[in-house]
Amino acid sequence: MRTQFLPFSVPTISEEEIAAVGDVLRSGWITTGPNCARFEGAFAAYTGAAGAVAVCSATAGMHCVLLALGIGPGDEVITPSLTWVSTANLICLLGATPVFADIDRDTLMVSRETIEPLVTSKTKAIIPVHYAGAPADMDPIRQLASERGLALIEDAAHAAGTEYNGERIGKKGTAIFSFHPIKNMTTGEGGMVCSDDEALLAKVKSLKFHGLGVDAFDRQTQGRTPQAQVIQPGFKYNLTDIAAVLGLGQLKRLDGFNARRAELVARYRERLADIPEILPLGLPEYGHLHAWHLFIVRAATDRTVFMAALKERNIGTGLHFRAIHLQKYYTETFGMKRGLLPNTEWNSDRICSLPLFPSMTDADVDDVAAAIKSTLAAAKD
Ligand SMILES: *Cc1c(COP(=O)(O)O)cnc(C)c1O
Repeated sequence: MRTQFLPFSVPTISEEEIAAVGDVLRSGWITTGPNCARFEGAFAAYTGAAGAVAVCSATAGMHCVLLALGIGPGDEVITPSLTWVSTANLICLLGATPVFADIDRDTLMVSRETIEPLVTSKTKAIIPVHYAGAPADMDPIRQLASERGLALIEDAAHAAGTEYNGERIGKKGTAIFSFHPIKNMTTGEGGMVCSDDEALLAKVKSLKFHGLGVDAFDRQTQGRTPQAQVIQPGFKYNLTDIAAVLGLGQLKRLDGFNARRAELVARYRERLADIPEILPLGLPEYGHLHAWHLFIVRAATDRTVFMAALKERNIGTGLHFRAIHLQKYYTETFGMKRGLLPNTEWNSDRICSLPLFPSMTDADVDDVAAAIKSTLAAAKD
């Protein structure tokens, strides 16, 4: 058994990145400024997006986008229930109604097939999630959105570096990325809204900083533009330059990170292939490059016991995610209950994320596989 605890995720930060953060701290400008602008430019160039706006989290970015689209009371927004709670919460906070689409049992993705029957005259937007680092099947979903005149926002929190049919996520449409510490690249906390809709991006840019009409950072005077006026009340959701400079360093290494993640996953799949109780997620059949944000398995055993047993063997795990429609507020407010979304519920009861981060070693993967085997053997006794 391992003597040292293997966490489920650890950020990969270099000495060079730490030095760059130090330089910003010593520079006299630490909040939103030249490094944010550079980070936005570099991220747009990387994804192929027409434009990008940096924000303090993906949740903040989603809040700005939903408000910019005018989502509010009486509107319905379709999104999966098996995802992080942030999107559904925002829909509720804006007074709109979340409508949860079921997912594919093996890839955990929503699809045109699961979304289309839910579209009503009240539907305003669709928010698919690129789950675990693979892309959702966007062409049919885009087609549906355009046929029905619906806004389409991609939750790309897991999809930094993901490709769909040869194009990076973020290039087309509107996609929101997260730089939370467990994501494929990090700024401590942070996010990025990429869009090919210039008017939408301009609104997001204003809403993320108090709703001011011009960018608050003036590059000539290195200060705040004094003539900025409120166009519409907005938030305080800007990213700091301290975070942005870390993001610039991480972005340069993102493809390397993701390649290492893919190697580790290949080893996992090999080591777990002879354990029938462990079922990894299925891979999409359409063209894609997987960013391997998470390596998720479904265990044919009691999950709480399984996760606790791995922890006893010094292996950390995660749970991404619990179905939202079965959580207290959603059952009480919308009367949602079990039976509504069979594939979501089946997975919500079983999924477990195994350790996966670029600085993990091959031996770490072998330790996890050995711990799983010993856990399952012990459960049989
Ligand atoms: C992490 C995550 C978010 C939120 O990202 P933050 O930057 O923490 O706000 C949204 N959706 C999904 C699917 C996530 O995993």
